[in-house]
Amino acid sequence: MIGCDCGVCRSIDPKNRRNRPCAQITTDSGKTILIDTPPELRIIAVERRMRRIDSVLFTHSHADHIYGLDDLRAFNYLQKGEIPLYGKADVLDDLKRTFQYCFVPTQAGGGKPQLSLHEVGAYQKFQMFDLEVLPLIVFHGTLPILAYKLGANAAYVTDVSRIPEETIPHLLNLDLIFLDAVRYDPHPTHFNMAGALAMVEQRKPRRTVLIHLSHDYDHSVVNTELPEGIELGFDGMVLDVSQ
Ligand SMILES: [Zn+2]
Ligand SMILES: [Zn+2]
Ligand SMILES: [Zn+2]
Repeated sequence: MIGCDCGVCRSIDPKNRRNRPCAQITTDSGKTILIDTPPELRIIAVERRMRRIDSVLFTHSHADHIYGLDDLRAFNYLQKGEIPLYGKADVLDDLKRTFQYCFVPTQAGGGKPQLSLHEVGAYQKFQMFDLEVLPLIVFHGTLPILAYKLGANAAYVTDVSRIPEETIPHLLNLDLIFLDAVRYDPHPTHFNMAGALAMVEQRKPRRTVLIHLSHDYDHSVVNTELPEGIELGFDGMVLDVSQ
């Protein structure tokens, strides 16, 4: 955190160095799907030696989830094609307004990303390459945003403080859930640790990776204290969820 001298912020453990959240999914056929474009996308893409982004799913349009959008242009160049972006209508509108220059015919050439916008509907399943994607409404404070169910048994649920009744059936019998647990103290727009643990206790996913973590968590200490099947995510974490 800017301006903080706590033990986690001064830690040399790489698992305590946290960029803003995103996830990269590689499908069985080798397609690369990104969830959100955080401000550090360029740093992440260079560090992780990313070579392709075939599409992007957006959860919502807060700065920590979209401000790396312009860095997609490096992938346009590598792939020689435009990149489709998927999200709710309000999120696509926000992208168009925030990154106005990307969506108007101004300069030609490689100076700006080549993107197309595709609206997704809540609870309307669609096929993204060889992966089935189901957008689910969750509440981020009072704001309805999207979580994504990926395939039959995994879900990415960030920036959530309440899961509505309609979404709950889709989050049962999961093998893997990525779940917001921003800090220990209650938060108006995010699950805190107690909220995330309560959700896990009720819905019983087989494996839970906590995400969107603040400097409350010293990785090596907290990770060993969590109940079985629950762990802290960390930047660069790689999971094999093939079946
Ligand atoms: Zn700190
Ligand atoms: Zn947010
Ligand atoms: Zn966020």
